[in-house]
Amino acid sequence: MSLPMQGSRVWAVANQKGGVAKTTTAVALAGLLSEWHKRVLILDLDPHGSLTNYAGIDPDSVEHSVYELFEHDAGELICASPWPGIDLVPASPALATLDRRVSGSRGQGLVLARWLQEVRDDYDHIFMDCAPMLGVLMVNALVACDHVLIPTQTEFLSINGVRRMTRTIAMLERSQQRHLSWLVVPTMYDQRTRAGAQSLRTLRDEFGAQVWHDVIPVDTKLRDASKAGVPPSGFAPRTRSVAAYRTLLDDLLASTQPQAIPA
Ligand code: ADP
Ligand code: MG
Repeated sequence: MSLPMQGSRVWAVANQKGGVAKTTTAVALAGLLSEWHKRVLILDLDPHGSLTNYAGIDPDSVEHSVYELFEHDAGELICASPWPGIDLVPASPALATLDRRVSGSRGQGLVLARWLQEVRDDYDHIFMDCAPMLGVLMVNALVACDHVLIPTQTEFLSINGVRRMTRTIAMLERSQQRHLSWLVVPTMYDQRTRAGAQSLRTLRDEFGAQVWHDVIPVDTKLRDASKAGVPPSGFAPRTRSVAAYRTLLDDLLASTQPQAIPA
């Protein structure tokens, strides 16, 4: 059991674009935190289940996912991941049918937030790896989180994904009447290309201090780590992308506070 008032941080990793390093970012940060003996939970909210796959679990064989929370008969959703100190709520194929199932029913935006209130005391950090579409799961994640991380590729077309994401956040802030903290994280940055530098400049011009001051460099070790089913810092502790993720984590921890659940 955790100490009272210790608090935790809940992160949504989201972008309405695929292939921008959402899953990689969630696993990289979770892996580093577990090395620092933090208690971490990751929720795979993407029906494709790439995070679940990364953890060596076949999404097609998963019986319990957050889908059940919308079904009123939620049993134990949390399982141990193969990574020490990291628990997982895997994705199941049923997640893909959720939007059809719950569309039109009211009060479905708070389902994940209510459940997290029950479990968040057991963890220091909770990451929600979102699917690249604006649906009931992303809305639930944005409602339930304390902070949003928006990874984006540093290339021209990806900036539209960030724009869409910030509009979604603004919409949620209006309907929820609360401020949501978010940070754009430039990923897969290739300093050798002019396009990379240009799109990074565009990002900074448009979103200013909402863009992390550093970048995650392009690094093939990250793909190798996911193939091996090991968080990046366990797979290649000294590779430059892991150093960058470590800097990102330091900055995130310095600029945010754990939230305690009121007694
Ligand atoms: P998303 O979850 O946004 O769809 P992923 O995290 O699955 O994106 O990343 C997409 C692909 O890019 C994966 O194969 C991943 O290993 C690779 N990748 C992620 N970050 C980097 C990086 N900094 N450099 C090179 N490849 C990366
Ligand atoms: Mg993903």
